[in-house]
Amino acid sequence: MAGTRSTLRTVGPGRKPAALLLAGALGLILADALGAQGFRTRMRFQMGSLTEITVPDGQYSAQSVSRAFDVVDRLDRLLSTYKADSEVSRLAALGKLRVSPETMEIAEASLRLARLTGGAFNPMLGPVIALWRQAEELGRLPSPEALEAARTLADFERVELDRAAGTIAFPVRGMGLNFGAIGKGFAVDKAAASLQRDGIRMALVTSGTSSHRLIGRPRDGACWELGIRHPGDAERAVTVLRLGPGGLATSAQSGRPREIGGRIYGHIVDPRTGRPAEPRSPVWSASVPAPTATDADALATALIVMEAADGMALVESLPRVEALLVRKNPDGSPRLVWSSGLTQQGTLDGLPLIVPVTEIGCMDGGASSGPAAAAGEQPLRAQPETQTGRPPPPALNRW
Ligand code: ADP
Ligand code: MG
Repeated sequence: MAGTRSTLRTVGPGRKPAALLLAGALGLILADALGAQGFRTRMRFQMGSLTEITVPDGQYSAQSVSRAFDVVDRLDRLLSTYKADSEVSRLAALGKLRVSPETMEIAEASLRLARLTGGAFNPMLGPVIALWRQAEELGRLPSPEALEAARTLADFERVELDRAAGTIAFPVRGMGLNFGAIGKGFAVDKAAASLQRDGIRMALVTSGTSSHRLIGRPRDGACWELGIRHPGDAERAVTVLRLGPGGLATSAQSGRPREIGGRIYGHIVDPRTGRPAEPRSPVWSASVPAPTATDADALATALIVMEAADGMALVESLPRVEALLVRKNPDGSPRLVWSSGLTQQGTLDGLPLIVPVTEIGCMDGGASSGPAAAAGEQPLRAQPETQTGRPPPPALNRW
């Protein structure tokens, strides 16, 4: 959508960061200084979005970066609901399909995250999302009957994954997967893994300006600094997150607005109603640092659907997962809420600087100690509260 990207700029006056990026709901803005300090960014249009790969000059290899883009192209061909010959489309048409390992992997991850979020993230919303897409084309809202019929097809517990046979099957005609809320996170994780296989130790891989995988750190012992977009001004950040290696995703209902009959609707659906999520306590954007971008992406979408307090309670139960919510006060001004594993550590350019409490992967300088390295690619599971070793949840922090 228009205005999702801006020209290169730093955030705030006089800032000379190695990497200050605006990673908000709609905008990843690379600081001018990033280029000046010897990084190279390449972009390719994929998955209906821009993929951006930033690597330091010293580690740059045109071949490795192209290979990483190719990984994303392949996922786009497998997973897109916009391509009639993708595995996801053919599976929806046929009801059963032997799929590639990547499709099986993202389907398994999606089901795990659907269960974890109590269905707030639901990869089986395919038919519901198709209805809203059609509504946009026709300029007419879906009928309540059509919506209800599509919604009942979105039962993720009924998908049959047979890992040994490599097949995915649906018991009912019309069911369909949609990886819109997780595919970009999965893609940047896979692209990052490809770069790492080629020996690249520091990189930032971003898709659609909102799903990021951070490899290593921008300089020895330094952290990535990512600005989170201000709800009222696409050019401004509302806060800065300082992170070590791992995944980060931001979701916002304003991410891809669609106009139907003169009204604007958000693209994130509340699976309970089949309609665009309109939370009672509005969360304008949700940013989730997590060990992988796959998990971060699905969780960020879920946090837009869930009540803020429920979402935070979920985040508090997950090891190495944090959340920063941007809410809007009645007067439109932003209010930040963050999980107990994050804390404000002063300001940066007048913006609150939010860092992980433990400084994991950030201040200790050890390249192997980041969230990703420490947690590996272990699937996220809720931990019993007695084992979290965290401050008692969910005393929400506010700014
Ligand atoms: P973006 O694609 O802007 O980064 P999200 O990661 O939040 O945003 O994904 C939103 C997309 O995911 C929607 O466009 C739609 O295709 C799909 N989707 C919408 N609501 C849900 C939901 N509750 N669970 C899973 N997928 C969803
Ligand atoms: Mg998402």
